[in-house]
Amino acid sequence: MNSAVLIIYTGGTIGMKEDPSDGTLKPFDFSQIKEEVPELNKFDVRIDSYTFDPLIDSSDVEPNLWVNLAELILEKYEDYDGFVILHGTDTMAYSASTLSFMLEGLTKPVVFTGSQLPIGVPRTDGKENLISAVEIAAAKDEKGHARVPEVAICFDSLLLRGNRSTKYSAEAFNAFASPNCPPLAEAGIHIHYNTDLIRKPVYWDAQLRVQTHLDTRVAILKVHPGVTPQVMRAVLCDEGTRAAIIETYGSGNALSKEWFLDILKEADAKGKILLNVTQCKSGTVNMDLYATGASLKHAGVLSGADITTEAALGKLFCLMGRSNDNKWVKTMLEKDLCGEISK
Ligand code: ASP
Repeated sequence: MNSAVLIIYTGGTIGMKEDPSDGTLKPFDFSQIKEEVPELNKFDVRIDSYTFDPLIDSSDVEPNLWVNLAELILEKYEDYDGFVILHGTDTMAYSASTLSFMLEGLTKPVVFTGSQLPIGVPRTDGKENLISAVEIAAAKDEKGHARVPEVAICFDSLLLRGNRSTKYSAEAFNAFASPNCPPLAEAGIHIHYNTDLIRKPVYWDAQLRVQTHLDTRVAILKVHPGVTPQVMRAVLCDEGTRAAIIETYGSGNALSKEWFLDILKEADAKGKILLNVTQCKSGTVNMDLYATGASLKHAGVLSGADITTEAALGKLFCLMGRSNDNKWVKTMLEKDLCGEISK
């Protein structure tokens, strides 16, 4: 066999199959994956599977699942050329984003996939997503290096950078998008890899390191017409908040009211890390464009540039888990660590 891929099943719609006895959907046994999806036999790939216990709907994902996933990948790293993680779609972008920061020195593909329809029902998108994900996780270039040594999401014939992705449709088969970053690959008759865009490790023989300490004291505040000082203060100035992602309008704008800016300054004076992320799906924060954005900057708010909320959350969890020094966290937040922001 040319490559070996480990399929890790965490739960979600993809792994469901109709139980003929009562017609209900139940998780199927992934150790029988090649019987269920015989197309996988056509690849020159050894495929093993690992099933999480319990299997969960991804709405129940908590950071300890990410720690378990990262530790499992570390444990099995030498035995496989790539990893496919089957995951519910609801929080897949959060998981892929956070894993991209947790897995340092990655030289192998970690490809998340799932489906909108269970694998065991007619018209499922699960089979195609799984087959493409396995092919990509196993793919190597002429030198024998992984084609995509990144954490990515494979969905509906697109391979998207994990920390650029967001779930944008609850209905369509093309459920994910990464508006600020072109696809890393597109599956048509052949899989076309966007090699110039795919990140390469500094050293191909790098050791994988996993960051398993996550500090989750992050709040997300969506600015909206009618937001009150009480809500703002409760979220931003609370003892339990170490950092806040402030989802602003357009290019990073928010209210210019004095009370609003005063609360930001109060939070900044308390040492909170405040990060400006736009509510728009596409485009970037630029706090120098409008006076309303500039006043946020003066109040101590950092620019998240074109980061997604999902990636901002994972980046904060990891950076804060690594250090108690907020000054260092702020410096690192503005850097592109693994392709999550455009520079
Ligand atoms: N609620 C499911 C989940 O995210 C939906 C899905 O699998 O797509 O786990």
